[in-house]
Amino acid sequence: MRPFELTAPTTIEDALSSTGTFLAGGTTLVDLMKLNVLTPQHVLDINALPLRGIDTHDGLRIGALERMSDLARHPGVYPVISEALLLSASQQLRNMASIGGNLLQRTRCGYFRDIATPCNKREPGSGCSAISGANRMHAVLGASDSCVATHASDVAVALVALDAEIRLVNAEGSRTVRLADFYRLPGATPDVENDLRPGELITEVVVPRLDWAQRSTYVKVRDRQSYEFALCSAAVALDIQDSHVVDARVAVGGVATKPWRLTGVEEALRGAPATAEGFEAAASVAADEAKPLSDNSFKLSLLKRTVVRALLEGSRR
Ligand code: SF4
Repeated sequence: MRPFELTAPTTIEDALSSTGTFLAGGTTLVDLMKLNVLTPQHVLDINALPLRGIDTHDGLRIGALERMSDLARHPGVYPVISEALLLSASQQLRNMASIGGNLLQRTRCGYFRDIATPCNKREPGSGCSAISGANRMHAVLGASDSCVATHASDVAVALVALDAEIRLVNAEGSRTVRLADFYRLPGATPDVENDLRPGELITEVVVPRLDWAQRSTYVKVRDRQSYEFALCSAAVALDIQDSHVVDARVAVGGVATKPWRLTGVEEALRGAPATAEGFEAAASVAADEAKPLSDNSFKLSLLKRTVVRALLEGSRR
């Protein structure tokens, strides 16, 4: 790790008037600093800022510094959010990691974390080692010729399914952005992963009220049952009346370069019978836009099966 200056502002104004890299739980940043993937000269520890709190009165408002474990066990949180959090990382990491930091976490592509290998995301223009290398874990949706890395967050998938927004602030002012629009596709600039502006801080996550999201779930398929990233995951919420789907939300992770909403599946679900056959028919379009790499064509069928399993489990709530 390279030497750096550390300061700890106690007000949002002080934090925004300083230049540096924000440190919350540190579960991504410190790792990447140890590997010399990130080498900030000035780190701003923001843990003393007043950015905590969970308000469930009308929808859900989550302070950006809330810890994953605290949010997961809050009784007013929709099941799909709680389950996505509890299937993430380890208990120790969930006790440390903040919600804002989780949404900004970097990819787990092994080449990104190995400074001895080319990686367009870490060093623009150097090439992508994964496209012709080990790419079993990589994306089949949203990839480009420059980068095929998946987005690593579980809870971001649940939040995108629920149309969550984030509030951002910097020295110029504040704004609100749909989380789904915040993340960028890699295109020719995979080093630019999101719409975060210079000096900007996430202050809050806002989930609109959706009463039928009590019937929701998060399914995560991975190589081992704990402390592992998704091969494929699915966040679903279902409005079911008279044994038919009235409305649905479906988003997937582990297969795409950003949390991926399956609007075609949602459309196919509306009016469909809430049965295994109805769910299988709707999920049959889930991988229509997918493009497999050399090692991960299995993700196309896995994607459909994961969506069906999530729909079945969600419908039984
Ligand atoms: Fe880097 Fe993206 Fe290629 Fe991984 S997939 S090596 S993060 S450019």
